[in-house]
Amino acid sequence: ELVNFNEFFNFILDRFDMLIKNNHEKSTKAKKYTIKRIFTKKDLWVEIDPDKMTQAIDNIMNNALKYSPDGGTITCRLIDTQRYIILSITDQGLGIPRKDLKKVFDRFYRVDKARSRKQGGTGLGLSISKEVVEAQGGHVWVNSMENQGSTFYISLPYDPSETGGDWDATL
Ligand code: ATP
Ligand code: MG
Repeated sequence: ELVNFNEFFNFILDRFDMLIKNNHEKSTKAKKYTIKRIFTKKDLWVEIDPDKMTQAIDNIMNNALKYSPDGGTITCRLIDTQRYIILSITDQGLGIPRKDLKKVFDRFYRVDKARSRKQGGTGLGLSISKEVVEAQGGHVWVNSMENQGSTFYISLPYDPSETGGDWDATL
């Protein structure tokens, strides 16, 4: 399905903004998170399976919240290169030790068992994100500094000549 990716990503982040707001209404002790969006102004039309891609992004967003125990800003970016769109999600959380960076996308892999046991989860989230993104011709990777935060990236193939709007105009 050809999707306006800016709208699609905004819609996902709106849902997380609502979740954060609801948690605050339920408990004043809930951590403060701010989602910041830095998107290209250009509309990017991308061929994706929206349900599966939503799941891939949700898993990364859920981690950004879960592994940022002190709250902070989650910065979401969307840019395009000639052939790819790249979205990134940056948190100010625990970070990931260098030796674990490659492994976090493996099924059931969790950094520091003690810390993650408390958090709950199966260790499947990122492996699902990777599978979904790669099935749609893209890539996922991560950059991180321990105790400073992490940035997860998703790239997806993009053909700038495909524009939902222009196609309508030719009718
Ligand atoms: P699940 O997603 O299945 O509930 P999970 O979050 O443990 O469980 P993944 O999402 O696959 O599993 O993440 C794997 C591991 O990578 C996590 O256990 C955590 O140690 C580490 N990790 C993932 N995202 C972050 C992040 N944003 N900051 C710090 N560590 C992270
Ligand atoms: Mg997870």
